[in-house]
Amino acid sequence: MKAAVGGYARARDLRHALELLSSADGMGRVLAGGQSLVAALNMRLTTGDILVDISALADCRGVADDGGTLRIGALTRHAEIGRDPLVRAHAPLLAEAVGHIAHAAIRNRGTIGGAIAHADPAAEFPACALALGAVMRVEGLDGPRDIPVEAFFRDTFETALAEGEILTAISVPKAAPGEVQVIQEVARRSGDYALAGLCLVRRAGRHRLALFSTGPKPMLATAAMAALDGGDTEAAISALKAEIDPPSDTQASGAYRRHLAGVLLRRAVARIEGGTR
Ligand SMILES: Cc1cc2nc3c(=O)[nH]c(=O)nc-3n(C[C@H](O)[C@H](O)[C@H](O)COP(=O)(O)OP(=O)(O)OC[C@H]3O[C@@H](n4cnc5c(N)ncnc54)[C@H](O)[C@@H]3O)c2cc1C
Repeated sequence: MKAAVGGYARARDLRHALELLSSADGMGRVLAGGQSLVAALNMRLTTGDILVDISALADCRGVADDGGTLRIGALTRHAEIGRDPLVRAHAPLLAEAVGHIAHAAIRNRGTIGGAIAHADPAAEFPACALALGAVMRVEGLDGPRDIPVEAFFRDTFETALAEGEILTAISVPKAAPGEVQVIQEVARRSGDYALAGLCLVRRAGRHRLALFSTGPKPMLATAAMAALDGGDTEAAISALKAEIDPPSDTQASGAYRRHLAGVLLRRAVARIEGGTR
């Protein structure tokens, strides 16, 4: 089946993109890497959209050192994140996550902003952002606003982005001395979306644990985090299994996903105690 779009326009700069979205009568749709959106259009999950192509917005691409944080432009591609020296040094979780995302062709086109705005509950980058305590820079015609990641993911494929807004950058705190960041997941085949996955960050003796593919949106497992802070891995695994309610589908039952989450947490703690990033 072919996509049934209402139009296409390539934005020259951010202001132009925002004006194009605003003039589209609610039918405007940001096109970044196209790796999720074009598939949805081809399957006619959405029709009549006026595509606003933001891929030429140079200000939204690349990684910059902002002092205590890294500013990652929303249009930075997955593959670029995987090999960026600043990301590898200061937010290694993101670099490691890239190896789990799809295949080379998709990683060469897909953008971190697209993955986060798309808010697929099975995607890696939204959970990484949650584990790292990222802040989303969002721009609209009324100006910019910053949204803490805890308030960004609202439901399956639903975020705090308002109509006509564009996610322009993601800020992540640079890893503190001794900080450890790991991602663990289980997928049926290399490149498939995970059946269950988690990101664990230990920063100054405190833990942040974000789950993906175990519910309607990425979530922080706060009870498990408290048990990890107290040094009790077994209690953390029990708490984690109690606080998630994974869905059953054709890939796996909810019970199996819950079991996997416990296994993955045990592996993540073992890696953290081994000190490997
Ligand atoms: C076969 C296949 C396998 C995949 N496997 C995985 C996987 O294992 N893990 C994973 O995480 N992902 C996977 N993906 C998805 C891939 O990572 C996508 O690239 C990503 O989810 C979307 O990024 P994009 O730049 O292509 O966004 P697009 O497809 O262009 O856009 C996606 C959505 O986000 C909106 N959007 C995009 N950018 C912005 C922005 N800056 N501001 C506001 N809204 C925006 C669009 O309007 C659209 O609704 C897979 C995709 C395919 C086709």
